[in-house]
Amino acid sequence: MANIAIIGAGVIGVSCAAFLQRDGHSVTIYDPLLPGEGCSFGNAGSIGPGSVVPLSTPGIVRQAASWITDPDSPLWIDWRYLPRALPWLAKFIAAGASPRINGIAQALRLLHIDSFTHYRTLLGVDARSLLHVSGQLYLYESDAAFAKDTLGRELRSALGVRSEILSPDAIRQLEPSLGPRFAKAIYLPDSGHCSNPHRLVATIAEDIARNGGHFIRASAKDFELDAEQVCAVITDAGRMPCDMVVIAAGVWSQRLAGRLGLRIPLESLRGYHVMLPMPETAPKRPLYPLAAKIMMTPMEHGLRIAGTAEIAGLDAPMNERRAATLGTIAKRYIPGTTGEPISVWMGHRPTTPDSLPIIGPSPRHRNVMLAFGHGQTGLIGGSTTGLLVSDLVAGRKPTIDPYPYREGRF
Ligand SMILES: Cc1cc2nc3c(=O)[nH]c(=O)nc-3n(C[C@H](O)[C@H](O)[C@H](O)COP(=O)(O)OP(=O)(O)OC[C@H]3O[C@@H](n4cnc5c(N)ncnc54)[C@H](O)[C@@H]3O)c2cc1C
Repeated sequence: MANIAIIGAGVIGVSCAAFLQRDGHSVTIYDPLLPGEGCSFGNAGSIGPGSVVPLSTPGIVRQAASWITDPDSPLWIDWRYLPRALPWLAKFIAAGASPRINGIAQALRLLHIDSFTHYRTLLGVDARSLLHVSGQLYLYESDAAFAKDTLGRELRSALGVRSEILSPDAIRQLEPSLGPRFAKAIYLPDSGHCSNPHRLVATIAEDIARNGGHFIRASAKDFELDAEQVCAVITDAGRMPCDMVVIAAGVWSQRLAGRLGLRIPLESLRGYHVMLPMPETAPKRPLYPLAAKIMMTPMEHGLRIAGTAEIAGLDAPMNERRAATLGTIAKRYIPGTTGEPISVWMGHRPTTPDSLPIIGPSPRHRNVMLAFGHGQTGLIGGSTTGLLVSDLVAGRKPTIDPYPYREGRF
């Protein structure tokens, strides 16, 4: 059995480490932060096996102008960062315009369909308090807005995602926390949420440690090679020998992969959440008003309002105004909430142009596995990614076809 170094203790890194450990490998996770303190800390907690619509879709070019000029648009680009983002943006727009969209949706479906099942394997009894197949509601403020979203409905229906269209009365009955703003909703009964994404990662990491895995608080800087194979990870805590490496460092994976000569288009899609006190009539499930592109999810510590996407690089400071807006928008939909944030957070979604992650061996160094780029659906895709990576390392028939996630597609 191999001594495997996993770089990154986010939801992807710990899921890979946990499944590899189950195969008998010795695993060591490296991260300067504690498990789950990166992007995996503050996501919206949505687990949607039916989340199959990529970010870039055929209408994307028409919307592009507003991204730079309107700071309140759901996707905003800092014009100072634009020159650096342009090559990625060109690929992003091309992915949406291409006939690939059905294939991308199908690959997302494969990665997401058994998310709950594989997390239950990893979480054991803790799954009961963390995972909830509560359903999700996609909400539309007018019939026209509903009609405009045909692509999403077509993709979901072609891929066998169960859903139901709800009238305003049915919406209020199912979700009394909502005000009377919505003309229609789509109810996805097989979707749901995790009520504490940080605890989910920490729980898996604790289980790995209990079973003899190691966690070292160190940052990977480079790799030592021996005959085209990585034989050690060079970290700020020293040289760490290994038989194999999994790069699962979220958006920071691009720099590490670059050390191995790989040029991967990966951009940070910065997103925010605010935590609000739980209103007296609490939402029962993730609520997704499409006009605002925010997710409102009941969590262990309050109501989380998460969303917005910003392209401004890794180093720009948090945009406090955009974060605060999330509370105000939520109040519009859930009248019982104060809209006053208890806490504010920003994270970096590691995003590829086609919304599919990169999973599989590095073409140059066969003992390096790549597992990053899950964008807006890394929580949903985490458990299956871990299983797939362990299948590929074991050389057994993979749970799902890894071809759509290969590094060489760009
Ligand atoms: C606002 C928002 C809402 C979201 N909502 C959802 C949702 O509802 N559902 C969903 O599925 N997804 C959602 N996402 C996306 C999801 O959170 C991410 O896709 C996922 O967390 C990515 O996980 P990761 O493990 O790849 O990255 P991370 O969680 O960022 O983990 C990467 C880790 O690598 C470490 N690292 C970096 N560099 C190094 C290095 N050199 N050496 C060692 N370690 C290193 C970092 O410290 C970090 O801990 C959301 C994201 C945001 C921002």
